[in-house]
Amino acid sequence: MLGGTTSQAINTQYYQAVFDDILSRLYPTQCECGTRCDRPMPSRPYSVRCPSCLRQKSKLAHTPFRNLRIPQWMAGYAVEESYHRHPQVITASELSRRLEINYRTALLLKRRIQLLASEQLKRIYPLIRQELETAFPRPYKLPAEGNDVRPETIDRPVVHADTMVLFSASQRANKGRKRHRNRGLTSSIYLSERLGGHQIGTLCHVMGTKQGWVLIDSVPDLRANTVGPIIRDRLPRNTAIFTDEAYTWLYRIYPNHRMVNHSKKSADRRFKYARDRWCQNGVHNQVSEGLNGSLKKAMRAYSYFRPQYSTLYLNEWAFFKNLRYFGLERLAENSLAAENPVVRRSRTGCLIESARDSAEGGNGPCGASADSIFRQKLPFTRLLEPYFYRAERIPGASQRPHARSGSASPELERILKLAPFASLREAIQSCRAFWAASSLPYQRAKQRKYARLANHLWDRIQSRDWHYLSDLIAETRIDNRPLMRVLRRWADTGIIELRDLTPGPSKKHAIEYGFRRLLPGAVPLPEILYRQNRKEFLEETEKWQNDR
Ligand SMILES: [Zn+2]
Repeated sequence: MLGGTTSQAINTQYYQAVFDDILSRLYPTQCECGTRCDRPMPSRPYSVRCPSCLRQKSKLAHTPFRNLRIPQWMAGYAVEESYHRHPQVITASELSRRLEINYRTALLLKRRIQLLASEQLKRIYPLIRQELETAFPRPYKLPAEGNDVRPETIDRPVVHADTMVLFSASQRANKGRKRHRNRGLTSSIYLSERLGGHQIGTLCHVMGTKQGWVLIDSVPDLRANTVGPIIRDRLPRNTAIFTDEAYTWLYRIYPNHRMVNHSKKSADRRFKYARDRWCQNGVHNQVSEGLNGSLKKAMRAYSYFRPQYSTLYLNEWAFFKNLRYFGLERLAENSLAAENPVVRRSRTGCLIESARDSAEGGNGPCGASADSIFRQKLPFTRLLEPYFYRAERIPGASQRPHARSGSASPELERILKLAPFASLREAIQSCRAFWAASSLPYQRAKQRKYARLANHLWDRIQSRDWHYLSDLIAETRIDNRPLMRVLRRWADTGIIELRDLTPGPSKKHAIEYGFRRLLPGAVPLPEILYRQNRKEFLEETEKWQNDR
């Protein structure tokens, strides 16, 4: 019906029934007599009755809808609408318009749905594991690498994993400054260092099967230490996993992991890339590309969310996808088998740890450990906390030099006591003094820039052989002046031995230097002062001119 008030336009009885059904399946209330309390009481909307002993129980306590202050059918509407719309989503502002409630109220309702999704996802993990263990039993092996896997994978749920970025920090958001610290995908979710360097975009790790389930995690980066545990927690060992070439470390844990080389070069000189760059021997990544596409499209409806809330939004999307795949029936079965609410309640009844403590205890990047506060009498908003993604600030250059100079390695401490490294000891001390003193921002920035360059160079001269400036310039394409500054400072302090190999004094000879490290290999590069004022600069130039 068009027009009229909301309650006339929406079939509230229907949505009330939907709400009651979902609650009694996903959060069943068990009576002391052992029966499930699911008989609604028309005159008491917040209670349910036990069908056998007629005891009354609270309907909403211990569910994500505790202390719900709006009519219950609205929650039913929000759940059903999210389910039917998937892969599209319903936003808080749309809920607010549709239900004619305040935006804040609508957002709270949205958060309740997200909490429901996050809690129920934990019931889905065992279902996924079960499915994979059946399809890929213990000794299962894919054909050896290089053979066609198509016959093996055609009717098996191969897991496809990939990563994608939501709300990337564009150049414009960075106020036109380029990004320096990070490379590739990771760079685009962090603001540039000069603007604080904190995370503003969301990096999602997506795993899924063809027309099946999906698992999405919000991650700070793509290192093996971040992504590895997520995969290990969710997937059994013999699962076949197809990814792009970013997962070079995965084969160590998963023998059935295969990568497709998207930048495979063609053997034919006429073409740059090989014809099979998207699919090699039946190994492809189309499923996760498709998932990424629909996830990206869905999340565009939100226009933006902060990384802190990313887990909630991603869990919501993943939950409704999985719900469509597994069905409410299987989820409800699992919920009954998983726990007996009466036992849990009496066990945690008197000894309630604070939500913060239990939230901080062993939470992964996806925040999947809210079990201990699952059924406590806490306000609803506190229940969300374990699902917050803790946006990590990448340790920016502003903190790094302090950290490094503060905690020198024991090996370095030992070396600094030796006589040949006395000048190095002095240099480190004067660098510490520089950071401790009230130096100007541009001076600090200069020092940081050189320190970064120095670390970059240090990684390149790990061996104690002779290296040459011209090679270094050709490889790194860095201007020779900052390079020379670093090398000269290193030579001054005895970190390296530097020799001028320029053939003659005239300007027409290209300068050439050879250098060799004097510090042992195990020692990290100590930070020394590279920044110079005008006077120091002139003095240094003169000294090196005279040495010629
Ligand atoms: Zn009873």
